[in-house]
Amino acid sequence: MASLDDRYRQMFTKSAQAYEEAKGLFPGGITHQNRYASPFPVYFTHAAGGLKWDLDGHEIIDYVMGNGALLLGHAHPQIVAAVTAQMAQGTHLGGNTQFEMEWARAIKRLVPAAETVRFTNSGTESTYLALRLARAATGKSKIIKFAEHFHGWHEYALPDQGNSPAAAVPQAVLDLVIVLPPDLSAVEEVLASEPEIAAVILEPTGAHYGCFSLRCDTFLPALRQLTEKYGALLIFDEVITGFRVSPGGAQVRYGVTPDLTTFGKIVAGGMPGAAVAGKAEIMDMMAFRGDPAWDNHRRIGQGGTFNANPPTAVAGITALHLIATEPMNQRADALAERLKAGLNTAFQRTGIPGHAYGVASMVNPVLGVDDHCDRQYCDLTYDGRRQAMTPPRCGALTKALLTYGVHVMGGQVFMVSAVHTEAQIDRTIDAFEQALRDLRAEGMV
Ligand code: PLP
Repeated sequence: MASLDDRYRQMFTKSAQAYEEAKGLFPGGITHQNRYASPFPVYFTHAAGGLKWDLDGHEIIDYVMGNGALLLGHAHPQIVAAVTAQMAQGTHLGGNTQFEMEWARAIKRLVPAAETVRFTNSGTESTYLALRLARAATGKSKIIKFAEHFHGWHEYALPDQGNSPAAAVPQAVLDLVIVLPPDLSAVEEVLASEPEIAAVILEPTGAHYGCFSLRCDTFLPALRQLTEKYGALLIFDEVITGFRVSPGGAQVRYGVTPDLTTFGKIVAGGMPGAAVAGKAEIMDMMAFRGDPAWDNHRRIGQGGTFNANPPTAVAGITALHLIATEPMNQRADALAERLKAGLNTAFQRTGIPGHAYGVASMVNPVLGVDDHCDRQYCDLTYDGRRQAMTPPRCGALTKALLTYGVHVMGGQVFMVSAVHTEAQIDRTIDAFEQALRDLRAEGMV
């Protein structure tokens, strides 16, 4: 039988050709670091619902789902209709609109802690803004982030985020970011001894969409208490979890109210857009007061040419309306449960050690280690997980699954949508079992 690499090259010949040209167009041939793949990445042409198609015409069941943005699937008809109609009415009106107001109302309806909202264009911008607001509101300069937790690619987010090195970040910036393990006593020790902590920021279900599992049901309330005790703000980065782990995100699911929340992905209905929301008194650090001393010197400035642009706003309004009025989260969660159970059966049937776990509609497989988990949270240590899901193993799993018509994000997570079908889930389970057997044949597990 042909090797995995040979099969991949034979199936995706047009992608291989495209990549040859792309290497001359983009650094490294790619437009997002996560799209790097050896020997070449696959190029896609179009998508609908739970499916997408590649340059060679293969139908692929998609679990990247817009890097987690597409809880409602690709090209949801109502979102397409809303955006298409809006395109003909203008993409940028050069001023305030009713669309941005309706979009903010839709967020507030689902997320009670969102007293006021500001829109940005990406999750990265949102975490950057939230950290600056926290500094302004507290008059303190430092932040605590957790190891591996990903908050985008600005300089305060880069230390220890797993995906990219903090290369070329000035030491003066690194000195302001204290990276801790997600351990409450470590947090308390720093909060008690360091008076300059403005905020603690985290991915509420654990680093990388919960791959590095966090017992969030107990951790989040305890962290809330600690931050209150020591006067630091708590920022939930709900760029992934917002509107996914419940209609109101992790904060509603676990009943913990942060001071600020960052949103991206689902909030903009599959268009580029994001937001920061939270306590009005903190958000008001951006507000004009009509006092030149404040307005010109102390106010937090925020721009962004495309903030709350109408096509994005109507996509966000439509998506959040669907989430508020239809059982989108329940559907996605039920499909994810079916997938998770099937993947765990595949491990048993092949005799390959490993398991699948995850919160809500995120399913995380881990290969090559004994089953430690309760199917929601996995108690592997960070090192244990890193040893299990090495880059070569994740790459091989992604490639093997692609040859069976399934695309997972980084080999690490299946982002399940509300519009995948049970038949697609069952095909995915079969593909996963085949991929496991291939990886064993290649000596990868
Ligand atoms: N925060 C989290 C938790 C994320 O997962 C991401 C992106 O994946 C970001 C922030 C950055 O968002 P963006 O890629 O829109 O800049």
